[in-house]
Amino acid sequence: MSLRFQVTDLNAIETRVGAWLAQCTDLMNVFVPVLELGRKGRNGKDPYLAFATKMYGTTYEALWADYSGINGPERKADAKRKRQVAKPGVLGAIYRLSGGALVKAHTDECIKAKNARDYVKGTPCDCPMVKTGLWAYADNMGVDMSMEQAHQVVEIFRNSYPEICSMKNNPECGEYPGIWKKLELAVADVMNPDRPATVRYIGPGNCVKIDRVNIGHTNNDGVWVESRKPIMRMQLPSGRCLHYLDARLESTMMPWKGEDEDGNEIDIYRDSLIYAGTNQKTKQWDVWVSTHGGKLFENLVQGIARDVLACKLLDFEDAELPIVGHVHDEGIALVEDDILSPTVLDMEKIMTTPIDWAPGLLLGADGYEDSYYHK
Ligand SMILES: [Zn+2]
Repeated sequence: MSLRFQVTDLNAIETRVGAWLAQCTDLMNVFVPVLELGRKGRNGKDPYLAFATKMYGTTYEALWADYSGINGPERKADAKRKRQVAKPGVLGAIYRLSGGALVKAHTDECIKAKNARDYVKGTPCDCPMVKTGLWAYADNMGVDMSMEQAHQVVEIFRNSYPEICSMKNNPECGEYPGIWKKLELAVADVMNPDRPATVRYIGPGNCVKIDRVNIGHTNNDGVWVESRKPIMRMQLPSGRCLHYLDARLESTMMPWKGEDEDGNEIDIYRDSLIYAGTNQKTKQWDVWVSTHGGKLFENLVQGIARDVLACKLLDFEDAELPIVGHVHDEGIALVEDDILSPTVLDMEKIMTTPIDWAPGLLLGADGYEDSYYHK
């Protein structure tokens, strides 16, 4: 009996989960199936083309037509290029990447020399210059973009999706915070040392619970004695928790500068969540990681996306689709090459079925079958 691979991936899962978690209407609408586009539109619109329309002031229908090639090879190449520039915006700016700059990447030796007693301030070094932010992110993806373009992408993204990106918090003036800011406010409440039992909820239907696990004991005088810093916990809609060890708020210097009354450049300090992380080289829990709302949002989105895939892999098994592997956002089944076996269409149907712990999350799927596994 011969076998065949059936491979199905979750379409744009991080963007879909992010849009849903922040309840960002404009971005969620991108994923409503487009019936008139037939099978091509079953997953909704292409999120990169949809964002490109905001950058280039065109309609989705016009850009889609160019992209499909019906207006000739030149228009097709132009639409492809616009989609390329929009892609890092959708994937990176959503987690609060900045536009970026060219900065010196000091080597360990250089940092050591700078800290030495005999270091003369201002001594130049020949450490290499590297790109940062979205500019670097795009470069890593192989997308050629200028620094100005990277800044423009970030600005347009932040203005387009306020439910994710707004840092304003004046509800009395109709200015509501986006999810990055909401997360920072919730974490500040939960980690307030004076109120150790604070619980906050975030997301549609309050599906994410944020609280802390205090570690210590009550002594003979009835006073709480902390034996180590608390764990901050974010419970995902599936019930699984993300844990931040030795969590605390600490005043941290921000990567951007401010100005004093006389117009002098000054460092800006904000309370940030700090927690214990592992050193990439030594694998020891000996580094402090500082985080912000954009990164916490990334942790939530990626955690939820993982749970969606895990859920679907179990559903495949239940439907006689034996899973032999999974890679990133795809599930791989090996079935008997037989007319009676469930098909790729069955897999896509399972993948796009709503999940009970994530009502309203629009899922899309793309699959293929073949005698061997490939990309
Ligand atoms: Zn240096």
